Amino acid sequence: MQGLMQDRPLMISSLVEHAARFHPRAEIVSRLPEGGTHRTDWAGIRRAACQVANALGALGVKPTERVGTLAWNSWRHLAMYFGVSGSGAVLHTVNPRLFPEQIAYILNHAEDQVLFFDTTFAPLVEKLAPQLRTVKTYVCMTSREHMPQIDVPDLRCWDELVGGQNEDYEWPEFDERSASSLCYTSGTTGNPKGVLYSHRSTMLHTLMELAPDTFGVSSRETVMLIVPMFHANGWGTPYAAAMVGAKLVFPGPHLDGKSVYELMRDEKVTFSQGVPTVWLMLFQHLDANPQIDPRALGVKRIGIGGAAVSRGMLERFEKQFGAEVTQGWGMTETSPIGVISKLLPKHDGLPEEELVKVKLKQGRGVWGVDLKIVDDQGRKLPWDGEAFGHLRVRGPWIASGYFKEPPGGGAASATPRGGQESLGRPGAFLGEGGSPIDEDGYFTTGDVATIDPDGFLQLVDRAKDVIKSGGEWISSIDVENAAASHPGVAEAAVIGVAHPKWQERPLLIVVRKAGAEVSADDLRAYLGQRLAKWWVPEEVVFVDSLPHTATGKLLKTRLREQYKGYVAAKAE
Ligand code: ADP
Repeated sequence: MQGLMQDRPLMISSLVEHAARFHPRAEIVSRLPEGGTHRTDWAGIRRAACQVANALGALGVKPTERVGTLAWNSWRHLAMYFGVSGSGAVLHTVNPRLFPEQIAYILNHAEDQVLFFDTTFAPLVEKLAPQLRTVKTYVCMTSREHMPQIDVPDLRCWDELVGGQNEDYEWPEFDERSASSLCYTSGTTGNPKGVLYSHRSTMLHTLMELAPDTFGVSSRETVMLIVPMFHANGWGTPYAAAMVGAKLVFPGPHLDGKSVYELMRDEKVTFSQGVPTVWLMLFQHLDANPQIDPRALGVKRIGIGGAAVSRGMLERFEKQFGAEVTQGWGMTETSPIGVISKLLPKHDGLPEEELVKVKLKQGRGVWGVDLKIVDDQGRKLPWDGEAFGHLRVRGPWIASGYFKEPPGGGAASATPRGGQESLGRPGAFLGEGGSPIDEDGYFTTGDVATIDPDGFLQLVDRAKDVIKSGGEWISSIDVENAAASHPGVAEAAVIGVAHPKWQERPLLIVVRKAGAEVSADDLRAYLGQRLAKWWVPEEVVFVDSLPHTATGKLLKTRLREQYKGYVAAKAE
């Protein structure tokens, strides 16, 4: 017997309609690439979203066709989140920080029909255009006066094409399982792979994201979204903010510490989300300006994900800003939220040292996400906080495959990122036939983790980054975090380098803080008090900067190439 409740499809367009009706005056503030600040509100975003949908109609874009963006976080990009998906087309957010060849590959693979881009990317677009096989129209997301002089087919100006359209649009209703947006993984191993979200997956993820034990955003909040909207749907926050009518603040391309600080201050931001790298830039600005009292900003909560939170970062936000840190783990394939770190009632009154340990874990599974850790043979491991294995996840907003890849796997190209370099038996932690999905429907993440009896997941490493020393595993992340907690260290990376006896030993690569004089011996002594003796790297090199991926993470593939011939000779 079926229930007698209305079977209304979960549509992304309903979010902007809701926001405009119930929170029309909640502001959307954007720092623009051309300079200056733009202000609108949810009513304005709805109008712009309707205009986007009408513009796509005028250009002949049909449902399910892909519409690309090469754009920073802004009100225009936000309007496209609703206008493109709402019309039935698929919003393809492209990461402009990828290599140009990868961007061309992605745009061709996705078969984008129209490419919307910010002025910043005009030279890139002009260079790429001759290689793009499907893009018919290029729309620069700006006003007439800022239009770039570039030679691309059918170049349009946002204000003329979109701004000239009707401000109303009848949103179609269709199957909620239809594709809504597309985002490619950064492809640090092999070609980028397309993760194709649906209206249903997005809406369920949005509801989960708003729970108090997740990011808990409400209409009272002013949210600064630093996470790029081209990175896993901006962690879903554009949708979540619409569902509750929160004020949104977009930094555009201005991500340096000074700009982020000023925007936080001027817009009275209460909650902000970003990867650790952007927070390090903010800290550097504060270090250079000790007269600033971060507490005066009034920021209450900070969301961090994409890479591990260090103790130093956690404590600085808590003690200097008076802000609560919420760490999350996820990936493009998980929409992206998989686990979120929130304390439980049982943690009240724990001594500080114990509490910090809990807080630095990536977090507990949110409703909707099933987790398991397995060994190289795919056998389940216990949740004892000790055993670590390959992390697999399952749920209604977890990828079931990649765009235009055979669903059941079998093709080598369907392996998840990191899969190629698995430890143990090659490919052993993939599902049947090399598919990223195992026989129970779990997606193989390429991460290695422990899970404790309370369900707190702690990332040990990415499978390909774990250092295998004498048959045992060393977590590069743990060594990095320990090194980064030294007051003289700005950033640290650890990779495995060849060793004649131990196969691999960790090499610590350090960027010193400006003016700090920390030596290799100092660091080894410091780490010796914090790590198992055999985890302490014998070798330390100092560099001016470390390479990062397009999503702000340490680019370990580059470091591994750079130090390929390096033989760690000193370890006995
Ligand atoms: P990309 O691989 O393109 O950089 P993703 O966002 O998909 O972008 O990366 C997901 C990966 O980032 C995860 O598999 C995990 O290795 C890492 N990651 C995400 N969140 C955390 C976190 N809180 N702590 C440590 N690593 C994290």
